Amino acid sequence: MTANRAFNAFAMAQSQFDKIADLIGLDAGTRAYLRTPARERRFTIPVRMDDGRVEVFEGFRIVHNDARGPAKGGVRFHPHETIDTVRAIAMWMTWKCAVVDIPLGGSEGGVVCDPHHLGPREQEALCRGWVRQLGRELSPETDVPAPDVMTGPQHMLWMLDEYETMRGGRHPGQFTGKPVGMGGSRGRLQSTGYGLVYVLREALKELGLRPDATTASVQGFGNVAQHAIELYGRIGGRTVAVSCWDEGRGEAVTYRRDGGVDLAELRGMTDRYGGIDRARAEAAGYAALPGEAWLEQEVDILMPCALENQLTADNAGRVHPRVRLVLEGANGPTAPEADELLRGRGVTVLPDFLANAGGVTCSYFEQVQSNMNYYWEMDEVLGKLDQKMTAAYIAVADLARRQELSLRDAAYVLAINRVASACRDRGWL
Ligand code: GLU
Repeated sequence: MTANRAFNAFAMAQSQFDKIADLIGLDAGTRAYLRTPARERRFTIPVRMDDGRVEVFEGFRIVHNDARGPAKGGVRFHPHETIDTVRAIAMWMTWKCAVVDIPLGGSEGGVVCDPHHLGPREQEALCRGWVRQLGRELSPETDVPAPDVMTGPQHMLWMLDEYETMRGGRHPGQFTGKPVGMGGSRGRLQSTGYGLVYVLREALKELGLRPDATTASVQGFGNVAQHAIELYGRIGGRTVAVSCWDEGRGEAVTYRRDGGVDLAELRGMTDRYGGIDRARAEAAGYAALPGEAWLEQEVDILMPCALENQLTADNAGRVHPRVRLVLEGANGPTAPEADELLRGRGVTVLPDFLANAGGVTCSYFEQVQSNMNYYWEMDEVLGKLDQKMTAAYIAVADLARRQELSLRDAAYVLAINRVASACRDRGWL
């Protein structure tokens, strides 16, 4: 899971967009408008560290488009965060909300920091500082942040508390992914991982594969991966390998056990960022393989659920011939060259902004609940989530079949057309 510093996620998002703009014959004005974020903020956040020093962190918030509704997107805490990664994800968030047809736009934020080396008080100060710097640009009607890489419910609650202190009153709809009982939605933690499996279930049906006859290898062991593994197991699938970041060694490790990984057991030996304790895993019978070994496993399904740019031109050739499906849990895990290569080999890639849209869909449900201050039961949340994800998959798969497109291109066609017409209907273009 190393970040390749030469890789530019925004260039990749723009080239994906340009390809579809050509395909659907998008006019020059709409194309120019949609290939660039509408608003960008870059700022500094001074934090008094536990050792008394002041450290200055760099933060971002970018709104790509809000024609279909208030902007929505996560906040990433990552040491290799760049403004271009945030731009790319803000753009993907626009397409993600559009493809599942929820009335929200796309945004993303981040802070360049390494939470592995920040205490809870320092992280709280960062969250509060991030909100203070954005000030009144945030409101439930304009832009609503949520968790992303290395942020979670506690971060959202600190951010909400700072926001409410600034604004006065209670505004639970300003952040999503909050703890249940403090304005959070039941199912939000599970939603991205479960959403992946709802889409996978439909895709397997189409390929004529029974879930209980399949195996998977997963990259990442954070919130998304853990819940995907859980539900995939419940529909009968067997996860045989999991790759995660080993902070102590500064490298990724793939853990493999032929009989399948035991989710509860692995969770019991995992730190808060999804790092698995190597000695304990080996004692429990897991083979520790190199970080990239996850993509070489002889399985039916690969689930990249960590970071962007993990399946690349350099390594996609090592994907085992048995692999039929790539289920993208992360944002932007497959580089365009790898995408082409996999497609050429007949691998179905379930594209990120469709497959991992369960998180933002549940965030939308959370916003609705928070704004009403009335919270639904788990079954209601998950039932609605399944309905949305299944409908989105069917619409995309249908278009892909009719126009002989990849699922990614079909999802882009649907999403870009929806956003472009919202901009035109408003009279912006
Ligand atoms: N960060 C998540 C994503 O990439 C969720 C965003 C949200 O819930 O607003 O989809």
